[in-house]
Amino acid sequence: MQKEKLLLIPGPTPVHPRIIHSLSLPTVSHVSPEFVAEFKEALANLKKVVFTSQGQPFIIAGAGTLAMEIALLNTVAPEDRVLVLSQGYFGQRMRDILVSFNLQGDIIQSPLGRAVTPEEMENKLAENNYTVVVATHVDTATGACAPIRSYAEICKEYETLFIVDGVCATGGIEERLDDWGIDILLTAAQKCFGVPPGLAVLVFSPRAMIKRKNMTKIPAYYSDILRWLPIMKDPSKYFSTPCVNEIRAFNEGLRLVMEEGLRERFRRHARTARAIRAALAEMGLSLFTQEPFLAETLSVILYPAGIKDKEFRQLLAENGVIVAGGLGELMGRVFRLGHMGNLSPSQVIFALEAIEKTLTALGYKLEKGRGIERAEQIYSEKIH
Ligand SMILES: *Cc1c(COP(=O)(O)O)cnc(C)c1O
Repeated sequence: MQKEKLLLIPGPTPVHPRIIHSLSLPTVSHVSPEFVAEFKEALANLKKVVFTSQGQPFIIAGAGTLAMEIALLNTVAPEDRVLVLSQGYFGQRMRDILVSFNLQGDIIQSPLGRAVTPEEMENKLAENNYTVVVATHVDTATGACAPIRSYAEICKEYETLFIVDGVCATGGIEERLDDWGIDILLTAAQKCFGVPPGLAVLVFSPRAMIKRKNMTKIPAYYSDILRWLPIMKDPSKYFSTPCVNEIRAFNEGLRLVMEEGLRERFRRHARTARAIRAALAEMGLSLFTQEPFLAETLSVILYPAGIKDKEFRQLLAENGVIVAGGLGELMGRVFRLGHMGNLSPSQVIFALEAIEKTLTALGYKLEKGRGIERAEQIYSEKIH
């Protein structure tokens, strides 16, 4: 049998036994009362996670990229001009989607390791008549977290629609749809919710719904939210078969979120990020991402001199932990450690011990146990 390893890549993330259990339940009819009740519960809890009372949630089979495509196709008309704020990989993908559908868009690409500043955004908005702004909350390639709330303020001023890719953030970092003025928040099951991949998840503001309703024809069929809207209002209706087991698993994932409490969950992510950063610093490792932009859901860590990417990740896997390599131009220079979803402190400590052991075996000099001690200290601090 394959030995289970701790999966600490930036998604998919470790799956809680309760979620695994729900996946193993018999498949029921997608219009059965039991399933309809679970689907409704998931939609209601999703709204709570993003702090919206008026928002319209959608849960559709697919993945994060489908959610990106759905967000764009349902709000960007041929006459619209989109501004994409990119801090790396997934902003570029937003632009690629626009290009694929002949939609107009410009991109501001920040230097890697940081995000576009609100000033840069505002200067660009003043230059051109943009009607939609798209931003990635946390870029999974660079570990940079964008100032979403400040972006939202500026969008309000310029009266542009605001779309946020929260795939590496939603459910792990606070995002307030109503209060901040986000028009579409899109995400996927497999990152901060800790559910296996398979779902595109979105919440539309009333303003975004109106925008869609005012567009007569869009280049989409399965991705047209107006076809899904009746199902999201009453899941006993049919458009295309929902993936019953996966939605039930997502519902279980959301129950775990609600049981933990959103405030506590966000705090746990913040504390875990602090514990990991302090431990890594103690081991003499540095982060690729610049300080004010550090995300609380993953860390992008520079290899010290003499440590080779492939060797390190292979030996670390043998020591029980899977991390990801660098994407694009960061390949070989960094490893990416995901710390989002349903991670317990003991799993984090286990991962840090494995990193320490692996580095030591590869000839890197560090003072054994110091990093772990720092992390434990942070976990034991009283929270006010
Ligand atoms: C993972 C990720 C995506 C893509 O999601 P898939 O499920 O792989 O299609 C998009 N945006 C961000 C920020 C991500 O982290």
